[in-house]
Amino acid sequence: MILDGRAVSEERIGIVRARVAASRLKPVLATIIVGDDPGSRTYVRMKHQACGKAGIGSAGIELPESSSTGEIVEKISSLNNDPEVSGILVQLPLPAHVDTGAVMTAVSPEKDVDGFHPFNLGCLMSGRPRFIPCTPKGIVTLLDHYEIPIAGKKAVVVGRSIDVGRPLAALLLNRDATVTVCHSRTLHLEKETVTADILVSAAGRAGFITTPMVKPGAAVIDVGINYVDGKLCGDVDFAPVRDIAGAISPVPGGVGPMTIASLLENTLEAAEWLARPAP
Ligand code: NAD
Repeated sequence: MILDGRAVSEERIGIVRARVAASRLKPVLATIIVGDDPGSRTYVRMKHQACGKAGIGSAGIELPESSSTGEIVEKISSLNNDPEVSGILVQLPLPAHVDTGAVMTAVSPEKDVDGFHPFNLGCLMSGRPRFIPCTPKGIVTLLDHYEIPIAGKKAVVVGRSIDVGRPLAALLLNRDATVTVCHSRTLHLEKETVTADILVSAAGRAGFITTPMVKPGAAVIDVGINYVDGKLCGDVDFAPVRDIAGAISPVPGGVGPMTIASLLENTLEAAEWLARPAP
């Protein structure tokens, strides 16, 4: 079974659009991009386009590569205080001289639609999530859409980053999976991955997950974004692994579109939260 992230994402965006249309809310996503990285610009453009499809407003703030941490934080503070802005997304990576942690922490947890603020990551860890990082949320939405069971299953997550591996592990644990997190210092990776009912690869290495690493019948989720000879591919050696997996997400057309759908869902939730009646 191919897990069609593009189709599921379209469906989810349609639901967001209907919820926005049925409400008095005017959700707005503000994005901040620092510097001229072409990849980052493409991602931000796609996010703005998706907002348009869902009836969500968007505002793009572009800051020069030379911006200091203080200047970026100042911009974030003004967005935090702007009642027209529901959600704030700072496109990563930031230039090397910028303190990424300080920037992430400057975003108000109430507008942190990327879910990277320590408050929101802490909520996720404590089993009472508020904003869940978009890629992990999209992966679980995809599994749920195809009714792939999570509770009681063995999940192996390859990658321990703050944006994918760690929050995904917490999310799967909250859903009663038995979770193993692997990383670049894991010994005998294959021995771990081959036990997985749900195998997620977020290593960012093309062709990295091969058939001996996959349990027959497993659900294989490919988060990787790699370019080989200019062509986009994931971490999974797709054609042979597809033949033994029970389900597999392709690249492109798998996790990427789900990440964008989750961003729109989080932005709508932020708008709903900000508009809630005072207690
Ligand atoms: P990262 O570089 O922060 O983390 C990579 C992780 O992979 C690290 O934890 C590292 O320990 C692990 N790793 C690297 N080599 C390994 C090895 N040989 N064995 C075991 N583990 C290894 O990257 P990230 O931000 O988590 O992103 C991972 C990949 O997912 C990248 O290709 C990125 O572009 C992609 N990504 C895709 C989406 C999407 O929406 N599709 C979103 C975020 C990231």
